[in-house]
Amino acid sequence: MDFKVATLLKSSSGNKKLENVNASFEVEWSERNCHIDGTVLLIKTDVGIWVSAHLKANYIAECGSCLEEYKESIPLEIEEEYFPLLNLLTGERIEIEEIIEENFYIREDNVLDLSEAASQYLSLQSPINSKCEEDCSGLCIDCGVNLNMKECGCGNNTRNTKIAALLEPFKISE
Ligand SMILES: [Zn+2]
Ligand SMILES: [Zn+2]
Repeated sequence: MDFKVATLLKSSSGNKKLENVNASFEVEWSERNCHIDGTVLLIKTDVGIWVSAHLKANYIAECGSCLEEYKESIPLEIEEEYFPLLNLLTGERIEIEEIIEENFYIREDNVLDLSEAASQYLSLQSPINSKCEEDCSGLCIDCGVNLNMKECGCGNNTRNTKIAALLEPFKISE
């Protein structure tokens, strides 16, 4: 998700640029391919560029209850200031020791890459226990049947969590 911002960086503060986003990228922490769409407003500040992004992240997730894959869609509202590594007007570079890890930076080729911020926001906003449906029935704790699909044959119909499903193979059969 690269934006060329050289022109904006040279302009005076308050100048704006609206960009549309329609991109795919791999989310580092989940190794999932994620599709992002929406709009990004770039605003020149005194020291850098303020990013105000209204995005939607779409990806394939695994239901924590029935373990089936489903399409997840999460809104990402990104508000961050980006600082240039290279000052276009003075030619000055930010020294390595001046770089603050929590900050976002505009690369020296004057490209603002939104992927890292999108990935961070996504990790904060992804539900910990995601579900395919609000009322997903999960798996039967005894026989492992997906109770969304059918009634189970074991007669217990005990609703399950992911943890119980993981323990399933370790149960001793009678
Ligand atoms: Zn489910
Ligand atoms: Zn069962």
